[in-house]
Amino acid sequence: MTGASPKQRIGFIGLGNMGGPMAGNLAAAGHEIVGFDLSPEAVATARDGGVRIAESAAEAARDADVVITMLPAGRHVLAVYRGEGGVLSAARPGTVFIDCSTIDVADARAAAEEARAAGHRAVDAPVSGGVIGATNASLTFMVGGEPADVAAVEPVLQTMGRKVVHCGGSGAGQAAKVCNNMILGISMIAVSEAFVLGEALGLSHEALFEVSSTATGQCWALTTNCPVPGPVPTSPANRDYQGGFAVALMAKDLGLAANALDAGSVDAVLGRAAADIYRRLAETERAGEDFSTVINAVRDGSLAREESR
Ligand code: NAD
Repeated sequence: MTGASPKQRIGFIGLGNMGGPMAGNLAAAGHEIVGFDLSPEAVATARDGGVRIAESAAEAARDADVVITMLPAGRHVLAVYRGEGGVLSAARPGTVFIDCSTIDVADARAAAEEARAAGHRAVDAPVSGGVIGATNASLTFMVGGEPADVAAVEPVLQTMGRKVVHCGGSGAGQAAKVCNNMILGISMIAVSEAFVLGEALGLSHEALFEVSSTATGQCWALTTNCPVPGPVPTSPANRDYQGGFAVALMAKDLGLAANALDAGSVDAVLGRAAADIYRRLAETERAGEDFSTVINAVRDGSLAREESR
């Protein structure tokens, strides 16, 4: 089921690495896309992709049926939503707001509440699948909101992705995203520590992979994104950790997980440790590498050394 939605006018705010190709896919499906971004480079690329560019976020939202935001963090989303020049006051009552950014659960709930208070409909719909998924329209959307609102946005989301999961009320999409990425961050560190322990014990990467990939250590971090070169030829470890899901983005997502752990008084020792490890790794020259590069920090002891200072 792709691209079956009736043609709509869609305001798209945030045309960066993810938002640019997402807006382009909506334009290619025949929707009228009016976009806005603060960055001239992002604007130029989106224009080439068939997006009409507005002078402001408010102008992009005016007369729109749907307004999509794809911004760095909760503060950007709330700033674009709020105030006199904000999209909530510029849009016609009854406009559907979809926030696809990855933001704090609390900010997502505040954004949806404020949209409803202004007479609109709102869902949070963060994504997984990265820039490749945004480009190929193969994203997974994790959606939080009222069932009728989620049903209303599903055709538009299906145009940009392959899978739409309704996770619950407002904020539930963000909640699913932080929980999933907490599993991912912790499991990549676990797999990396196991390979480095194997090295110290004289165990080959191939032997450990052959055992664990079909035994109880099996997980995505091992079998798809293996942190050592060789066993999985497509994993970023085979290309010097270039491409893939950057350390800085994992650090951001685990920071959101840590905020949620604090807010809910959840005593998750490993989730907090993983957030701390990726935060420190994001302060090094490895920030732009795939997050499986954490194995290099385990191997050279840099994270442990810093901890003991
Ligand atoms: P990006 O930095 O490439 O794009 C964000 C864009 O927002 C930039 O072009 C910036 O100029 C624009 N922007 C910031 N403030 C603005 C404002 N007030 N008005 C208009 N435009 C504004 O980031 P991205 O990689 O596209 O990520 C966007 C969101 O998607 C983030 O929340 C990120 O965590 C999430 N995400 C990213 C990936 C990924 O692989 N890149 C994967 C999943 C989720």
